[in-house]
Amino acid sequence: MADHLDDTGREFGFDTRAIHAGQRPDPATGARAMPIYQTSSYVFEDSEAAAAYFNLQEYGNTYSRIMNPTVAAFEERVASLEGGVGAVAFASGLAAQAAALFTILRPGDHIVAARALYGGTTTQLKHFLGKLSVEITFVDSDDPNAWRTAIRPNTKALYGETIGNPGGNILDIATVAAIAHEAGAPLIIDNTFASPYLCRPIEWGADIVIHSATKFLGGHGTSIGGVVVESGLFNWSNGRFPVVAEPSAAYHGLAFHETFGVYGYLQKLRSETLRDLGAALSPFNAFLFLLGIETLPLRMERHVANALGVARFLAEQPQVERVRHPALPGSPYLPLVERYLPRGAGAIFSFDLRGGREAGQHFIESLELWSHLANVGDAKSLVIHPASTTHRQLSDEELSGGGIGGGTIRLSVGLESLDDLLWDLGRGLRAAASVTERVAAVAD
Ligand SMILES: *Cc1c(COP(=O)(O)O)cnc(C)c1O
Repeated sequence: MADHLDDTGREFGFDTRAIHAGQRPDPATGARAMPIYQTSSYVFEDSEAAAAYFNLQEYGNTYSRIMNPTVAAFEERVASLEGGVGAVAFASGLAAQAAALFTILRPGDHIVAARALYGGTTTQLKHFLGKLSVEITFVDSDDPNAWRTAIRPNTKALYGETIGNPGGNILDIATVAAIAHEAGAPLIIDNTFASPYLCRPIEWGADIVIHSATKFLGGHGTSIGGVVVESGLFNWSNGRFPVVAEPSAAYHGLAFHETFGVYGYLQKLRSETLRDLGAALSPFNAFLFLLGIETLPLRMERHVANALGVARFLAEQPQVERVRHPALPGSPYLPLVERYLPRGAGAIFSFDLRGGREAGQHFIESLELWSHLANVGDAKSLVIHPASTTHRQLSDEELSGGGIGGGTIRLSVGLESLDDLLWDLGRGLRAAASVTERVAAVAD
């Protein structure tokens, strides 16, 4: 584990690692903040050293598409916080997902995935991987039996999210991990909505953890980026993954798992998949993510508290049909929240307004503090009305199939004063009510 920062054997706490893991004062200048190594390439000491780097016999900087010191500090920090053996950063969350899967998949392979995933992920799995002849079975993620029965001999991964959207469903990670391992496949978890402060899936048996760093890790809505963390515990030589275990034609016959042991998957992810896909994280974005992570524990506490405050407020409003926050009384996910998310169930949830699409539109348009946009995990509070934006093309029937109604609103609760957030929502609710009242008056 990358938990130890010095040789004393002390395991530093999460908050300490959020500030220090992966970074020491710059050896060249003494700079205490992480320098932005804005360079494409690195001078080799001599040709022998260069050859050793390219043969992966020694670890050293060659070219910033593959590694960079600022990016490396970010990778090490996230690996430490997630309790993984290492990490590889990417230009976006979607690039990280694609790379994590490309590293283990071949045409004709199969994946089992949760049905209620981030929209971009569903599209990527279904259409992009579909084009490469990878088959996906989407299952009801709440049903362990659905995961189990969907597994086939060519299943190469189970894929889910810690906190799903828009239903706020919490994945029973330990149960699904056990099902995956029975079949000799890894469990991949997108932990973006929880962040490692609220949940560390590797501690519950997940093998690979993915983040869109764009969200809570960065925390300020400034940069796009992603990262893949691996536990180092999965046996890639179990016969199901010749792609990882056997000599690789793409790296002059190197057998990654045998050569690098617990680092085999990550080494292949970096020196083959990242090298060939080219979706490298920029050093500047890595610098901003490192800065963001320093305050992750403090921010998440406030995100969680504000989100609960907003959810409780909404649950009492007559214009609100239901609030889908996993930690509210009556939520079917309470036992799972208690087990996997004892510090809180995140800050992204949805609720349903009475009055359908029109009420939703009026609500959104009358908000002042809440920004109407397609992002989550920002210090600023964000709101979106799926029926008039991201899911605009869908009919009402198609919407409800995805758990989205005309009046569904998704919130990402930020760090502002709770009173101000409630004040603004109150204004939106009055605007929405004017629609329902008008409809009721016409009906009379
Ligand atoms: C945003 C997001 C992604 C995609 O990440 P990008 O950085 O936008 O590519 C994947 N999963 C979840 C849960 C997300 O919120």
